[in-house]
Amino acid sequence: MPEDFIKFEKLTKSFLEGDTRRIVLNAASGGFQEGEFVAILGRSGTGKSTLLNLLSGIDEPDSGHIWIDGQDLLAMSDHQRTLLRREQIGFVFQFFNLIPTLTVWENVTLPLDLIRSSNGVSDPYRRAEELLDQVGLLHRKETFPDRLSGGEQQRVAIARALVHDPKLVLADEPTGNLDEESGEGVLDLLDQLTRQAKKNLILVTHSRRAAQRADRIFVLSEGHLEPAAVP
Ligand code: ADP
Ligand code: MG
Repeated sequence: MPEDFIKFEKLTKSFLEGDTRRIVLNAASGGFQEGEFVAILGRSGTGKSTLLNLLSGIDEPDSGHIWIDGQDLLAMSDHQRTLLRREQIGFVFQFFNLIPTLTVWENVTLPLDLIRSSNGVSDPYRRAEELLDQVGLLHRKETFPDRLSGGEQQRVAIARALVHDPKLVLADEPTGNLDEESGEGVLDLLDQLTRQAKKNLILVTHSRRAAQRADRIFVLSEGHLEPAAVP
């Protein structure tokens, strides 16, 4: 068995709600292999976004361990974690999170301007063009996000998530704000493009149908991550 690309053990995370402490993750453990596409299902409020925030080093657990590509995430300095996040992780969010004052092209190439190295991509700007073409929006590269439909904005966000050749793509309810048809289009692209480039994809969703595409499905419930009983 190859080592897991992402591994986490006994992650606990709680938040204060008024005077009471609400435990969201309760010793959640798991591991995902290199290149794997996993889906995490769970009702609203079960801690899916919280788990992604921990795995990407945006937030810290109360206790537990996380290893990404063999590196102990919680032993790193904030600066090291920021670099790891910028270089090795691409994000796709429910509300697209494109920067409204930047064009499509500027949004997609933004991650390239944030990292020092080219991450081994020989011509990253050429790659940006190729990705925009693959998501069908190269002809809109000078357009601003507010001129695009939700589905189109999410396709731009997918190009942005992949442009710097990260090893891991985290998609948090990427179809939550789209109609069914645009949602399917977005899932097709995420699935295709991450498999083609052999990326890890973690798809957080409450849609069983969306989750069916994954290599493995997990359910987050009562603070634990468990393999889904029925696919
Ligand atoms: P999901 O993504 O599964 O809908 P979340 O991870 O966003 O769930 O949230 C899980 C629970 O943790 C919710 O009850 C939410 O209110 C709480 N929570 C999340 N982030 C914070 C925070 N920064 N401060 C306080 N409570 C939070
Ligand atoms: Mg969420």
